[in-house]
Amino acid sequence: MLRVAIMGLGSYGTRVAEAMQTCKKAKLVGVISGTPSKVKAWQAKYNIPEKNCYNYETYDQIKNNPDIDAVYIITPNALHKEAAIRVAKAGKHVISEKPMSVTARDGQEMVDACKAAKVRLLVGYRMHFEPHTLEIIRLRKAGELGKILFSRGCRASPSATRRKWRLNRQLAGGGSMMDIGIYSINGSRYMIGEDPIWVTAQETKTNHEKFKDGVDETIQFQMGYPGGAVASCLSTYSMNNLDRFFLNGTSGFAELLPATGYGPIRGRTNRGELDQPITTHQTVQMDEMSGIILEGKQPVVPVDGEEAVKDLKIIDGIYESIRTGKRVDLHL
Ligand code: NDP
Repeated sequence: MLRVAIMGLGSYGTRVAEAMQTCKKAKLVGVISGTPSKVKAWQAKYNIPEKNCYNYETYDQIKNNPDIDAVYIITPNALHKEAAIRVAKAGKHVISEKPMSVTARDGQEMVDACKAAKVRLLVGYRMHFEPHTLEIIRLRKAGELGKILFSRGCRASPSATRRKWRLNRQLAGGGSMMDIGIYSINGSRYMIGEDPIWVTAQETKTNHEKFKDGVDETIQFQMGYPGGAVASCLSTYSMNNLDRFFLNGTSGFAELLPATGYGPIRGRTNRGELDQPITTHQTVQMDEMSGIILEGKQPVVPVDGEEAVKDLKIIDGIYESIRTGKRVDLHL
């Protein structure tokens, strides 16, 4: 069993905690929170002992707690870095939510800190364990789709900005790109099976009042891959009913619709509907992460910090392209 403390008892933290109740190899055993009333409620609901409860001032003491193996950081994006470094220094494995951090440089610092402390750093890329997604990757690897030439990833999440920190650049590190654009970045990479070598991006805003400077509402971006494939993607906080992925090769296509929400994920290829099982993503993710940390299991698509730094380098490139109006070469 991987014994996990969750840091940040918010909306997604709550979803993860619920999903972990049916895990076979991971268990919620502790909390780190700035809100005592939530701690009390979680203690009662999940039977968490007082000695496994911390706040943001006290959690370095987790180093003296032999009953916690890992901390799952589910706080606003810009807070992940400091937390990961402190958790690593306390000798506990780190699972960070996506985006792992808000710049590639910060992400690299997290990777280095975890390496120095000899703990694992994994990122909550739940789609890396989703059966329809994995089936398309399998088909592509088996050559069923031929040579991949095009992919398209689109994702919108208008309700996300109900959490006000997402509109605050200091805490969010950006806007929709950080939050959900990352699904198309990451998805294009594992679906095509290569890392991109350039990116171009364009930003549009319909609401300048709500989305202040540095907080993007809508970004379109394109990525070029060494094998000749191109990806065309869109990330937005403003549209509805937009969650899809499409992959086109010389002998077939595959698509997911919806593609990266909590599910049920649906998909089809040129041969017909995919009939993979519907899963609770966070349950599977935490069981698989337990396997990675405790048993050295290798996932089909990596979920480690190095992998996440690549996504952050692409995000850095996207913001640079918007700033300069130029194509940005990537060196992942
Ligand atoms: P919420 O606002 O719902 O929760 C964040 C929690 O972080 C808060 O409830 C609070 O918990 C804690 N926190 C600590 N400091 C702050 C602060 N300064 N401002 C606000 N909250 C603070 O956000 P989400 O749960 O939606 O998102 C959290 C993270 O999870 C983000 O990085 C996001 O990208 C990621 N996420 C990932 C998803 C996925 O599918 N993988 C889906 C949704 C989010 P407390 O009161 O306990 O201290």
